[in-house]
Amino acid sequence: MREKQRERMQIGQVFANYGAAMKLALQIYPSKLGLTLGLYFLGSVFSFLSEVYLLRYIVNALQLGEPTEKIIGFILLTMAASILFRIWSAVYDDLLLPLIDKRCEVRLRKKIYAHSLQQDLADYEDPAAFAQYHRAVNSGADAILRAVHVTCLIVSRVLNIGLTGWLMFAIDPILLVFAVLPLLSGFLRLKSETLYHTQRVHEDEINRRKEYTKRTFYLKDFAKEMRMTRIYRVMLRRFREAVDDYIRLQKTLGVQGAIVGAGIMLLLLGSLIGAEIYALYGALAAQTMLYGDCLIVLNSMGSVSSELEQFFRIYPEIYGIALHITDFLVFTEKKPVVSPNPDGPLPTAGDITLEHVSFRYGADDTDVLRDVNLTIRRGEKIAIVGHNGAGKTTFAKLLMRLYDPTEGQITVGETDIRRCRLAAYRAQYGVVFQDHKQLALTIAENVLGRPYTPADDATVWDALKKAGLADVISTMPHGIHTVVTREMNADGAVLSGGQAQKLAIAAIYARDCATVILDEPSSALDPIAEREMYQAMRDACADRTMIYISHRLSAAVSADRICVFDGGRIKEIGTHRELMALDGIYAELFCMQAEHYVGERGNETV
Ligand code: ADP
Repeated sequence: MREKQRERMQIGQVFANYGAAMKLALQIYPSKLGLTLGLYFLGSVFSFLSEVYLLRYIVNALQLGEPTEKIIGFILLTMAASILFRIWSAVYDDLLLPLIDKRCEVRLRKKIYAHSLQQDLADYEDPAAFAQYHRAVNSGADAILRAVHVTCLIVSRVLNIGLTGWLMFAIDPILLVFAVLPLLSGFLRLKSETLYHTQRVHEDEINRRKEYTKRTFYLKDFAKEMRMTRIYRVMLRRFREAVDDYIRLQKTLGVQGAIVGAGIMLLLLGSLIGAEIYALYGALAAQTMLYGDCLIVLNSMGSVSSELEQFFRIYPEIYGIALHITDFLVFTEKKPVVSPNPDGPLPTAGDITLEHVSFRYGADDTDVLRDVNLTIRRGEKIAIVGHNGAGKTTFAKLLMRLYDPTEGQITVGETDIRRCRLAAYRAQYGVVFQDHKQLALTIAENVLGRPYTPADDATVWDALKKAGLADVISTMPHGIHTVVTREMNADGAVLSGGQAQKLAIAAIYARDCATVILDEPSSALDPIAEREMYQAMRDACADRTMIYISHRLSAAVSADRICVFDGGRIKEIGTHRELMALDGIYAELFCMQAEHYVGERGNETV
């Protein structure tokens, strides 16, 4: 619905969206709106007094022989008021406004980030949804600020037009015709705004492609791959293609924009010159206008027509705001598929049951999980094994409600997890993801997964000890307050792959969670460290449910049950002994890996 609005918007919708932008502006920028409105109001009154009315007053007063002191008194009063206003205006612009802006920015970003966290993961994988999200947080957020600015402009323009227009009307009503002509340019402005928006939409998409290439060259994530292959040449080609697309876009939309811009200028200049010729003819040839009045027409006509033209330029501005705010409204009003259920029931600990669960990603036409049925008993240690791409990680993602099943249901205790309060439900899980990302925050914050307080010291050190990281961290100059990565701090800690995984594991020890999910947590650990880690984890999670995903089977051997995934289905389930006796996929995988280890170490089996 809102997507359609972006294409062609009716006037009613334009004002409804502008109203919505103003409502957001009142929530996010209340002080900026109030103070700037006041400033614009006073600005209009003072500039009329000092730049237009004063000239006319002086000429008339001299003509009518008013006392000199009275004239000087009026001039001084006007000047004093103007000086005071300019001082206040400078203080506001240079001192107050930057501070107010920063406070408002925090309010805006908090709102955006709160909604970002609710976005479905699937939206990150859908290019259209991601582009829309990108626009919402950029041009959509700008639209709120533009709404503040435009509202202040409306007040100021109405005042400027009202005051100067009244003076022109008093001199000669025909002058108003010349003032009204520039209004026609409003239609051209509308066209210009639509062109601008189309250009932004395309540019956003092109910039995302360019940005991606940029990231692949400067982010550490890609540094190894970019050096070891010639894939960088493909990235450069992609960059070049994005630039070519931009040039093509500029050639079409840029030419149209220039034609529209020239049309606007012609209308403006035409009406101004017409008024000036009319006034000069009246004063010099027809003698129907006083010199003083003619002087004011020459002096102020430009400003009346430009104010009027600018006033009607406000509609295209409002139209632009209405277009851009659509993205923001779609973003903030969109109900995520994985609904947060803030009023849903709190999850209760219990068995986790999957009934006929199938799942497919986004618009894909094949199921990644098919008719999965499984009950994980509370406190059970279960290993999920299978080839790459078998659906193991997807299974874990469904348990954590990062996605909801396409078919079937998952219950914990008696409750369908879709009904539970999402934040509380997810808080029940401690997870080490396969591609775990450390944030450039302190060790303590990474371990706690929340803000640190001094009372947390013992918890953090205890968790680091259990994860086998305490010795390393204690030698660091800032201990648990060392920032991870050097992205933000020159003296930050650069952790090895294994240490980073241990840090993620420490986070599990530090948290009180009913279920632990370890998704290939040992891929960066050597086999001995892996076995130690797994044993320590088992001990620490004695009363917790533990789901251990791995394609290395050595750690699965001691699990209560092993669940073998193949092609999105559970193909085998049982203890190591049972599955070996079954002589199926597990037995084959196990023997293959055992042979590999024997081959490597000569005589050691897994
Ligand atoms: P495993 O953990 O067993 O290696 P995954 O659950 O990661 O397997 O993946 C199962 C299948 O789902 C794979 O074919 C993979 O390509 C696909 N897949 C995984 N994540 C996504 C995603 N975000 N979007 C689309 N397909 C995905």
